[in-house]
Amino acid sequence: MDHADIRGGSADAHHQIVVVGGGNAGLSVAGRLRRMGITDIAVIEPRDTHLYKPLFSHIAGGTARASAAVRAQGSVTPRGVQWIQDAVATIDPDGSCVVLASGARVTYDHIIVCPGIQKNWDAIPGLRAAMDSPHGASNYEFDLAQKASALLRDFTRGTVVFSQPAGPASCAGAAQKPMYLACDYWRRTGVLGDISVVLLVPDDTVFGIAEIDRELDRKIDEYGIQLRTRTQILEIDPVEKVLTLGGAEGTASDRLPYDLLLVEPPQSAPDWISSSALPSAETDGFIAVDPRTLRHPRYPHVWALGDAAATTNSKSGGALRKQTLTVAKNLVAVLNGRKPTQSYDGYSVCPFTVSRHTVVFAEFDDHYALKPTVPFWPGLARERRLTWVFDRYVLPWVYWHMILQGRA
Ligand SMILES: Cc1cc2nc3c(=O)[nH]c(=O)nc-3n(C[C@H](O)[C@H](O)[C@H](O)COP(=O)(O)OP(=O)(O)OC[C@H]3O[C@@H](n4cnc5c(N)ncnc54)[C@H](O)[C@@H]3O)c2cc1C
Repeated sequence: MDHADIRGGSADAHHQIVVVGGGNAGLSVAGRLRRMGITDIAVIEPRDTHLYKPLFSHIAGGTARASAAVRAQGSVTPRGVQWIQDAVATIDPDGSCVVLASGARVTYDHIIVCPGIQKNWDAIPGLRAAMDSPHGASNYEFDLAQKASALLRDFTRGTVVFSQPAGPASCAGAAQKPMYLACDYWRRTGVLGDISVVLLVPDDTVFGIAEIDRELDRKIDEYGIQLRTRTQILEIDPVEKVLTLGGAEGTASDRLPYDLLLVEPPQSAPDWISSSALPSAETDGFIAVDPRTLRHPRYPHVWALGDAAATTNSKSGGALRKQTLTVAKNLVAVLNGRKPTQSYDGYSVCPFTVSRHTVVFAEFDDHYALKPTVPFWPGLARERRLTWVFDRYVLPWVYWHMILQGRA
């Protein structure tokens, strides 16, 4: 049964708190505020289904069914929070107002902006056509993750390329997760020796933290994966199935034929955010925020978090558990006439599914230093079965039942 009070954005309206985007960040922060006693909260979200993206990697790798990642938006919107099913077209922080795609205006006392990151499927020539072809897929879109699952399952010989883009990304390392899952599957089914697996990453190492690199490099050797660092795709010929590769500086260096291609797309701030008043000169189009309080530096009634905010951390859902608490506590403090004192510590996480029953749970801060949840014990950053159970089974349950309701 739907919990939310659903209303189209037909008439002009005013809310004490308006949340832009009912994804991971938006629903969690709305839930926390509701639990802290705020009664007039509206979430503006156009989609009628809510997707749990960390499961996309499991779907692509064949370790979760697609249905596990989907719920009706109304059923996960926290009780007592109003859902306006519409998209924000423009935001006017000077007038404390948003204009919706339907043309309606909504004014606010405070606004929390969290519309996520934009996937740029047209940024690489040939990428969109490659995804439409029978030889391309990705774990970054729900439908392409389902396509990836079948393609990886049925692949028995040839060259498969997995690629991670340069630039900002949502859980950048997620490109690697279906790769390890598939390699483990191919090893079990006896075909791994007939498959040439290539991983393209833009940086100097596979991840960027020595302890995590060691674990991942060990798995890369175990599966016989060819790791190509400082490499990105510049162009794709989806008919001939050939990639033009380049280095970090973007000059063409090499051509690589493939039989199957799995791509994490280049990503950026949403265009409508980049062209709004919310970024600053150094935030590359993302919403400017104080990285500790998550309040806008120029507009005190604007707050931002999640993938669309220019926070200093690596973008992830795990980061949001702390970001949502920071925004909710600081906003309530301001509403009560106090200063915002809650500080986000830059925590982030990337759980690498390195086999079909183990995970390397990378927890780190915005200086890329390990930041384990269990203090002084970096053991979760080693390959473990325990973290597989946590990532595959515990976290999805916690997400649907607690995180989205602002209870965790
Ligand atoms: C394949 C993949 C795997 C991942 N794996 C992990 C993982 O294992 N662990 C982890 O911690 N993180 C993971 N992440 C990252 C995590 O999913 C994101 O960091 C998180 O979803 C960001 O939350 P958000 O609310 O900022 O954005 P989103 O969850 O993307 O939500 C944004 C919402 O805003 C809405 N919206 C967009 N434009 C507008 C508009 N104009 N008006 C109103 N609403 C709008 C969208 O419809 C969407 O519902 C993964 C991400 C991907 C893509």
